[in-house]
Amino acid sequence: MVKRIGVLALQGDFAEHKKAIQGVGAEAVEVRLPHQLTGLDGLIIPGGESTTLRKLADMYGLMEPLRAFAQKHPTWGTCAGAIMLAKEVMGQAAHLGVMDISVQRNAFGRQIDSFVTTLHIEGESYEAVFIRAPLIVAVGAGVEILATLDDGRIVAAQQGHLLATSFHPELTDDLGFHRRFLKMIERYDYAQP
Ligand code: GLN
Repeated sequence: MVKRIGVLALQGDFAEHKKAIQGVGAEAVEVRLPHQLTGLDGLIIPGGESTTLRKLADMYGLMEPLRAFAQKHPTWGTCAGAIMLAKEVMGQAAHLGVMDISVQRNAFGRQIDSFVTTLHIEGESYEAVFIRAPLIVAVGAGVEILATLDDGRIVAAQQGHLLATSFHPELTDDLGFHRRFLKMIERYDYAQP
């Protein structure tokens, strides 16, 4: 069965995620309204601007449905999306608050400080683009650190069916991280009673 992966399409680089989802052989579904979450196997919350994402999610009545979805189904937040998932956002109120990570917004400086690097996770290399990215400053007990920069700063973490990355894999031709998320979804489905 082809997996159906939603992309929150309120703001930010959802089109690139859509392309990457299709690139790994899954169906991509744009989500703008609560009912569009029905029947999805997983969801990606893209990068963009978390404050704007939050405002739009409030306007469209999406906050509760998104929270309920992420509590039960594989959900991946990239950059601003990771901020949306975090239980703690330094210096401000949290948004969905479903993942036991603490994030610091704009931790790498301004747009001009954007950079691309290669990350290594379990023997695989992934190309990663950082744009005004958040840093995962702390993780809870049930959270696995997937990737750090050379200096040890955390940039990817997983808590069961939840995935957070500081960076944007969708802005490269490297589909590795989307493949990884698809595998997460397949494993999660298999584990359901
Ligand atoms: N700086 C943005 C925020 O705090 C995130 C940037 C991004 O998603 N590329 O929401």
